[in-house]
Amino acid sequence: MADIWVLRLGHRPERDKRISTHVALTARAFGAKGIIVSTKDEGLEESVKDVADRFGGEFTISTGVSWRPYLRDFKQRGRIAHLTMYGMPVDEVSKDVPLDKDLLIVVGAEKVPPEVYQAADFNICVGNQPHSEVAALAILLDRLTQGSWVGKEFKGGTIKVLPCERGKHVINPTE
Ligand code: SAM
Repeated sequence: MADIWVLRLGHRPERDKRISTHVALTARAFGAKGIIVSTKDEGLEESVKDVADRFGGEFTISTGVSWRPYLRDFKQRGRIAHLTMYGMPVDEVSKDVPLDKDLLIVVGAEKVPPEVYQAADFNICVGNQPHSEVAALAILLDRLTQGSWVGKEFKGGTIKVLPCERGKHVINPTE
């Protein structure tokens, strides 16, 4: 399986920091390789890198990336899926998304320009109601990985959470 990346479009640092952090952490937890954010936000980078450092894995974040050239370049090496409530149903489309080449999943913050709908190989909806980019991304990644994200190993890091029926069971895998 090739790598899955997420492009966060239209992030506004003053109002989207929390939800963009959740988009990034969801991307990481559900198996994406990294996130590209169209607006520079060093605070967002630090928050996400901090989690990745502590909990392990190789997730990357880049902010302040010009999205038009990025989309154009990505199309040379992979495919683009755009999450939008106006798209085609996730359960119809996700099984037809080939993962032989890298996939870029685009999620918006503010209004997404029409050219993104045109550039996308797949415009995918998770229901036709407006909700959250975090929910939409989680469901699409779950479908694309056929649930295998659950067993993903996050190597390195200083915190590993082990399931337990009550309370918290946390170990430091480096000790
Ligand atoms: N107001 C913006 C607009 O008109 O384009 C969208 C705001 S919405 C909270 C932010 C992002 O969530 C969208 O760009 C889309 O990626 C995602 N999203 C929200 N509802 C969705 C749905 N039903 N299916 C797929 N993606 C959805």
